[in-house]
Amino acid sequence: MTDNALGGLFGGTAASLNLAGSATTTAPDATAQNDGQTVHNVIIVGSGPSGYTAAIYTARANLKPVLFASSISPGGDLMTTTEVENFPGFINGIQGPELMTNIGAQAERFGADIRYEDVAEVELEGDVKKVILTDGSVHLAKAVIISTGSEYRKLGVDGESRLSGHGVSWCATCDGFFFKEKALAVIGGGDSALEEALFLTAFASKVYLVHRRDSFRASEIMAQRALAHEKIEVIWDSVVKTIDGDEKVSGLTLSNVKTGEETTLDVEGVFVAIGSDPRTSLVQGQLDLTEAGTIAVEGRSSHTSIPGVFAAGDVIDPTYRQAITAAGSGCVAALDAQHYLEAL
Ligand code: NAP
Repeated sequence: MTDNALGGLFGGTAASLNLAGSATTTAPDATAQNDGQTVHNVIIVGSGPSGYTAAIYTARANLKPVLFASSISPGGDLMTTTEVENFPGFINGIQGPELMTNIGAQAERFGADIRYEDVAEVELEGDVKKVILTDGSVHLAKAVIISTGSEYRKLGVDGESRLSGHGVSWCATCDGFFFKEKALAVIGGGDSALEEALFLTAFASKVYLVHRRDSFRASEIMAQRALAHEKIEVIWDSVVKTIDGDEKVSGLTLSNVKTGEETTLDVEGVFVAIGSDPRTSLVQGQLDLTEAGTIAVEGRSSHTSIPGVFAAGDVIDPTYRQAITAAGSGCVAALDAQHYLEAL
């Protein structure tokens, strides 16, 4: 299929699209056919703040986006956080799941087609992109927005995988409840680790915060809260050597990075909160990546190394990784996709 053919299929819509993102009343047929199969204008892969925001903008531009949100974790990481205090517009904060549910519903209000299904594979080259789901169904689109976010980093130590789900967790809001009156450890010194530690104080008898340096990476306000909490004890300059236990976690072996001294810590749960890595496995070998492992984009845009493929959110951001920056990035991707489609 040629560019011109696609332009024709798109129905000469450029003039009627509204670049500012407000809804247009002269909606074109927003999908086309390819050998009898629907070719969507845009498919969005991923449902965090970036994917949902891209869906709001593309839906308001009457592009009838289809968004694959995953069957297991729709809404992304914010679905497993508690209070979000720094997303503008919520004076008293908002619960992460409520925020994500609202953003998704806002996109649906403008006609975004959100599907709770899992993408297994993408074929991004060419005028018509293929998005293949785990059930084998193939979905076509002229533009694709990748907003797959990031995944929790692993410590890579003995016992971590074996005891995962048996005392080792990456999500305090999911699993904290199971550790009532137990001694726990949280690993990490960033905002996530401190947030997890503070959350776990509601259940645990004691929370050890194990950090590899002698100062936190987390914001000052979180550091002050953690240091002031009577149930939290910080173990500085220490790394986890092994997570110990037969069928469930019974303790940790720690090593002091300054003295080399090894100690053991009796805990029944370990929450790993050492950051996350961009989730790029879907596009490996197709899109250019940066040294940091994120999808490479041109300047401040969302343009990837393949025309018609855009990326947004944590998957392109090695630095800021906030809900609000991801949402802004989703907006950029939607506008870039819109311009791309208009030029076909
Ligand atoms: P992060 O800021 O990258 O912090 C990761 C922490 O884990 C760092 O303290 C790091 O140590 C430590 N670490 C990394 N690899 C390790 C390893 N192999 N072994 C032991 N420790 C290791 O990640 P994050 O805390 O998930 O935060 C990510 C972003 O989200 C940040 O921008 C953060 O501000 C934001 N966030 C904000 C909020 C909020 O505003 N409420 C909540 C959560 C997250 P070093 O310090 O030595 O590098």
